[in-house]
Amino acid sequence: MFSRAWGIVRAVDRLVQITRHVTTLKACRACPDMIPPVVSGLPVLAEIMLIGQAPGIKEGPAQRPFAWTAGKTMFGWFESIGVREEAFRHRAYMAAVCRCFPGKNPRGGGGDRVPDADEIERCSVHLASEIEILRPLLLLPVGKLAIAQILPELAQLTDAVGRCHRATWHGHKADVIPLPHPSGASTWHRMEPGKSLLDAALRLVADHPAWRRLIAAEAASPTAAAPATAAPVPTKAPRRPPTTAKPAARARAR
Ligand code: SF4
Repeated sequence: MFSRAWGIVRAVDRLVQITRHVTTLKACRACPDMIPPVVSGLPVLAEIMLIGQAPGIKEGPAQRPFAWTAGKTMFGWFESIGVREEAFRHRAYMAAVCRCFPGKNPRGGGGDRVPDADEIERCSVHLASEIEILRPLLLLPVGKLAIAQILPELAQLTDAVGRCHRATWHGHKADVIPLPHPSGASTWHRMEPGKSLLDAALRLVADHPAWRRLIAAEAASPTAAAPATAAPVPTKAPRRPPTTAKPAARARAR
């Protein structure tokens, strides 16, 4: 009885901490070449933490990560293993290597600029705080840049995707199931061996105890669908001066 009450007190305390953290995170303006606003997932106590690369041009105005086409693909993957988008957003913590839009790739090609080493380092402070508060059991890094932060020894997606790794990150040991980036610009997950490796990764996620607990919690108390106005998606980007080219140390593009 006492330990249950103590567990509830601890959970409330951690919820307060993660809520405060997200408030602080949203006020961050540490990177001069990043384009605000800061994009963050909901401040939820979660056993699962997803780590994306950085928001795209649509996510800032929408004020939620993975709000556009890549998100549609990724949430389609999750739905195929039993978790709807809104349930995931409310029951998993959605982080990223960098939380602000880096701007378009100044060299052209239609993609976004890859965050540079300084930006990644600065934003890792936020990740470290989140890991310390949440102590997640399962990490889902999405795309090469996120995978490289946790599993830097794995140079190729084919070495990382389709397996469950055990890694220590920011002083915390967790299971890591890497996923490819769901961007429409990437064909990796739609062609072999990527297609089969993605299927294997999703099976591993579906079998993970943290994922099964998420499904059980959702079945017991379903998350309401988001109202249609929850994620406005304007057609124009926030107005900011153009960014300059940056070297992408440690950064491996999608
Ligand atoms: S990218 Fe991260 S560290 Fe840089 S301004 Fe945005 S939130 Fe702050």
